[in-house]
Amino acid sequence: MSMVFENMSSYGHEEVVYCSDSNTGLKAIIAIHNTTIGPALGGCRMWNYTSEKEALDDVLRLSRGMSYKAAIAGLNLGGGKAVIIGDSKISKNEILFRSFGRFVQGLAGRYITAEDVGTSVKDMEWVRMETEYVTGLSRALGGGGDPGPVTALGTYSGICATVKKHLDKDSLTDLKIAIQGVGHVGYHLTKYLTEAGAKVLVSDLDQEALKLVVNDFGVKVVDVDKIYNADVDIYSPCAMGSTLNDKTIPKLKCAIVAGSANNQLRDEIKHSQMLKDRGILYAPDYAINSGGLINCANEIQGYNRKRAFKQAEGIYDTLMAIFSRAELDDVTTHEAALKEAKKRIEDISKLKNIYLSKNN
Ligand code: NAD
Repeated sequence: MSMVFENMSSYGHEEVVYCSDSNTGLKAIIAIHNTTIGPALGGCRMWNYTSEKEALDDVLRLSRGMSYKAAIAGLNLGGGKAVIIGDSKISKNEILFRSFGRFVQGLAGRYITAEDVGTSVKDMEWVRMETEYVTGLSRALGGGGDPGPVTALGTYSGICATVKKHLDKDSLTDLKIAIQGVGHVGYHLTKYLTEAGAKVLVSDLDQEALKLVVNDFGVKVVDVDKIYNADVDIYSPCAMGSTLNDKTIPKLKCAIVAGSANNQLRDEIKHSQMLKDRGILYAPDYAINSGGLINCANEIQGYNRKRAFKQAEGIYDTLMAIFSRAELDDVTTHEAALKEAKKRIEDISKLKNIYLSKNN
């Protein structure tokens, strides 16, 4: 069996499409993980991968994550993702993204794209010139614009759920929260948390981003390396992935980890267990950060900003259900969330089989 088939069957993918266009220089991979619940929606990442294998691994892992994110958020969507191999700082142009858009169109709606790391609203507008199966468009084109504020509200609602569950508090007043990364999501999360009376510490590599939140919300700055042992109630990772690992978890002084970053656990099983053993409540990343996906899903139905924000607030109840399940089964919150997501996909698959057998 080839490497691609081997990987597809171990992750459980339905379809992987290699896109090559010598006229535009496009080299992309689209991975459709699961379409049981609905069409596979997931962003298009542009990254300077060092090898095809690295690009394939990334797209397979990310698209599987999207299936679980959509399932746990209760959306009518499946999971997919695309990667374009290339340097987003120097190789982006209209023809590249229009070429990618044609490949998306060729999938006739089984995959719907959006922006991700290395791609922007503008790039999606070029994609839109070739296909209707694209979200993450500007408000002017009927899209939802920057999903950051919706993701931030969902993350804020998730933090409120963790505080209720673990600290038995209905308010965030005077709780100390350290936010790592104050970009599109972290900026708005800082706003929500300070308005709720929390004492917020922030760290970022980007001095401009720091200046903005310090000026706008009067928060304190902590060194990038010192955030893990900050004396806080909650650590909120809102920057890059893998920040929960063998080195950082022993340093944590917090009672809760809850933030928007994707793939926070370097090793999902080992590190979620390490957090549980230390008595730290972990809000599974793909459940708490589903606001961005909720925003995209709203574009498919005809974008309604109020509805998107309302749905993002529902992350409070989603997390409460995961925490109860984890407690009941004495498993990690990561395991409980995964079980719920897989169960929804299996249940809908059974339902479809019943319809099919009745119609035959
Ligand atoms: P962003 O790029 O706008 O902001 C990330 C910030 O983190 C930047 O300001 C960057 O300088 C900072 N940063 C990077 N490494 C850091 C480090 N080691 N320490 C401190 N700061 C660091 O990204 P974003 O859109 O705000 O997304 C944040 C995270 O949330 C990402 O992991 C993203 O995948 C995830 N996420 C975002 C959305 C969304 O709607 N934007 C949705 C779901 C998940």
